[in-house]
Amino acid sequence: MSEAMPRVVIVGSGFGGLAAGKALRESEVEVIVIDRQNHHLFQPLLYQVATSVLNPGQIASPIREILGKQRNTTVLLAEATGVDTDRRRVFVDSVDRASIPLDYDYLILATGASHSYFGHDEFAPFAPGLKSLADAVSIRNRILQAFEQAEAEEDPKRHRDLLTFVLVGGGPTGVEMAGALAVLVRSTLESEFRRIDPASARIVLVDAGKRVLGTFPEALGAAAMRRLEKLGVEVRLGHSVDHIDADGVGVAGEHIASKTVVWTAGVSPSPAGRWLGAEMDHAGRVRVQPDLTVRGHPEIFVIGDTASLDQHDKPLPGVAQVAMQQGRYAAKVIHRRIRGQAALPPFRYFDKGSMAVVGKGFAVLHTGRIRLSGFVAWMAWAAVHLEFLAQSSLRVSVFLQWVWTYLTGQRGSRLIVNYHEPKSSAKLGIPDVASKGRDARIG
Ligand SMILES: Cc1cc2nc3c(=O)[nH]c(=O)nc-3n(C[C@H](O)[C@H](O)[C@H](O)COP(=O)(O)OP(=O)(O)OC[C@H]3O[C@@H](n4cnc5c(N)ncnc54)[C@H](O)[C@@H]3O)c2cc1C
Repeated sequence: MSEAMPRVVIVGSGFGGLAAGKALRESEVEVIVIDRQNHHLFQPLLYQVATSVLNPGQIASPIREILGKQRNTTVLLAEATGVDTDRRRVFVDSVDRASIPLDYDYLILATGASHSYFGHDEFAPFAPGLKSLADAVSIRNRILQAFEQAEAEEDPKRHRDLLTFVLVGGGPTGVEMAGALAVLVRSTLESEFRRIDPASARIVLVDAGKRVLGTFPEALGAAAMRRLEKLGVEVRLGHSVDHIDADGVGVAGEHIASKTVVWTAGVSPSPAGRWLGAEMDHAGRVRVQPDLTVRGHPEIFVIGDTASLDQHDKPLPGVAQVAMQQGRYAAKVIHRRIRGQAALPPFRYFDKGSMAVVGKGFAVLHTGRIRLSGFVAWMAWAAVHLEFLAQSSLRVSVFLQWVWTYLTGQRGSRLIVNYHEPKSSAKLGIPDVASKGRDARIG
């Protein structure tokens, strides 16, 4: 460990961890950023990879490149597996070694969340979730393969099952995915098949709640619902899924035959709480103090999707803005402590609003008193998402792709890609997408 400078270890370089790392660039600390993937991922646009609008390289950047110019920062591709809070060590598995101890003076855990099947893990093989690039590519493969299989299928009775896509979860991801899929089948693929009519594909969105976009104001949920219906999406509300298997989905006693089901219904936090033996909420997120530290450990911060903190008696939502603001706050607390400056006031989340896009040229937007739906909201959505991409090269590339897709209907990456990585490489962020059918890292 450095004699001269305290060491800050950041586990996870998603929205929270990366914001913390960047905010420490001028501090007199040695920063070590650990992630099990070599890239920072812009999860809000994952659905566009899954529906072929963008390619994976347009929504992710190498962490090493993003932080490359930051002289006080080292990036390690490794997976954290535990923390010894007494000896101030985090244990990591690297490419060829297990349980390597790494000392820290300050620890920031920003390990995010993964899918939750609400106790029905048996759904997982048939209904992959959308959380990583590998998930998105795997889902893209499944969607495109369904059309190829249907085109090769002589029996027209089987076409309907093959071309039925079920999305479980009517939150922003499910709604965005359903809208993008509807545009894909009704416009992009329209004229390219001979035996099947892609536009006849059935897209079903299922949610146990009474409306879609339950966290948005009711009027915006209703606007999104109308838009989905206009795009030909069947929305089934008020019933949870009873079963999912290789033949389809059971909802309220009805069997929906489908070969492609996507799970967007729930998330569960990383196991950081178990590593620390810390107090957790009912979902398993670490209950943090108002300064984002763990009770009894002022040197350990937990931020983002894996942390639980209430504001105005309500838990903060699992969104990118919370993670980024918390990352910057944790960095500031460390910076001030090292300099012997006065403590900061408790963390306060500044809610800039929320948005969801529904098909081409339509979004809903809620910020403060402003509630918008339609094209203007979609323009705002596009501008905000471009702004938050990690690098300017991605901004240019995504902007051009969106303009191209908007004008021509053509998509950026309609490729079925079968990776054939050796199984051992799946350990550190290079999963064998095709053979496993979903990201081996998740869960
Ligand atoms: C499909 C989808 C769409 C979304 N859309 C939106 C949206 O439109 N707007 C919005 O605000 N939010 C959205 N979110 C939520 C948002 O992405 C999360 O709230 C945000 O990413 C949380 O940031 P985080 O830093 O806590 O975790 P993440 O950004 O998930 O980062 C966690 C990082 O930790 C790494 N990691 C995990 N475990 C380990 C380990 N053991 N060792 C090493 N590294 C590890 C992961 O590889 C990852 O890089 C979306 C999420 C998804 C999945």
